Amino acid sequence: MSIFQKTAIALARSSALGRAMRTLAARSSLARRFVGGADVGAAVRTALRLRDHHGIRSSLFYLGEYVADPAAIEHNVAQAEAACGALGAAGLDVHVSIDPTAIGYMHSDALGAANARRIGTAARVAAGGGRDWVVLDMEDSGIRDRTCALHRDLLAAGMPAGLTLQARRRRTPEDLAWAIRQRTSLRLVKGAFPERALDHAGRARIDQAYLDAASIMLSPEARESGFFPVFGTHDDRLAGAIMALARERGWAPDDFEFEMLYGVRPDWQLALRGMGYNVRVYLPFGADWWPYAIRRVGENPRNAWLLARSLTSD
Ligand code: FAD
Repeated sequence: MSIFQKTAIALARSSALGRAMRTLAARSSLARRFVGGADVGAAVRTALRLRDHHGIRSSLFYLGEYVADPAAIEHNVAQAEAACGALGAAGLDVHVSIDPTAIGYMHSDALGAANARRIGTAARVAAGGGRDWVVLDMEDSGIRDRTCALHRDLLAAGMPAGLTLQARRRRTPEDLAWAIRQRTSLRLVKGAFPERALDHAGRARIDQAYLDAASIMLSPEARESGFFPVFGTHDDRLAGAIMALARERGWAPDDFEFEMLYGVRPDWQLALRGMGYNVRVYLPFGADWWPYAIRRVGENPRNAWLLARSLTSD
């Protein structure tokens, strides 16, 4: 991890700075770039604009992670339910992403699981027989097994649950082997929580692990089970290799999806869409935008000017 990225993570963790930014600039240029709206209504308007102007789909995510306070947990769950309802009412596909640590797992597994079912039920009702997915984000290794168990429980209960797996973790192929035999959606990402003891070492090895996992996700076995592959990356080199592999294996562009973060490489999002591929953006909304947005800055030093503008002229 670069010094720049480490600094950004430290800034993201500063709750005093986060509070200050929230009051100083509710919609700074940094927030506008990476966050789809301050509330669910604004987020849905952004999702409608992306669909109508660019044919890009959205997955709504309410900002707020690692929450132990029951009132804050309830608030996060209510926002996810509201997002499902608003997406359905707007005629958009009902697709939300959730962090297990935001919906109760920091309090107790029972509360987290019950809340995940609540959100799954809200998604199902809002979709009214249309497309719906509740995708579980994958956080640090401390919550990994419980996230995978939750995914299995939700699928067993007939809920529209998807899962995120991190290519950087050496254990990922084991979880993938189970998932590709299910009618589920699996989002493959490189992984944002480095843990040296558990990870492949270095960028090249992680990229290779990503391609190896992509090959499993595009296998004939995955195809037969009704598995839906999602490639969560902004890496055009990886996307090129995935497109070639999919073509070679007979997967049509409609049979899988690329997913990127709202505001990150929008040019590449449009280019992929122009080539006829499904593109979805992970669209965060809410007032607690600082930790999320500053992590995006850390991923690319070229975003530093956005931070400078937010702190000075906004
Ligand atoms: P990189 O090699 O990091 O980047 C590829 C290219 O994109 C480079 O040119 C790079 O400069 C550019 N780029 C990347 N980020 C930015 C940025 N912020 N601004 C400008 N350019 C940028 N991680 C988890 O651990 N758990 C999750 O649940 C999770 N969910 C995710 C969901 C989605 C839809 C996406 C897209 C990512 C998610 N991530 C998650 C984050 C992911 O693990 C990576 O940290 C992140 O996507 C960067 O990796 P990359 O594949 O884009 O490749």
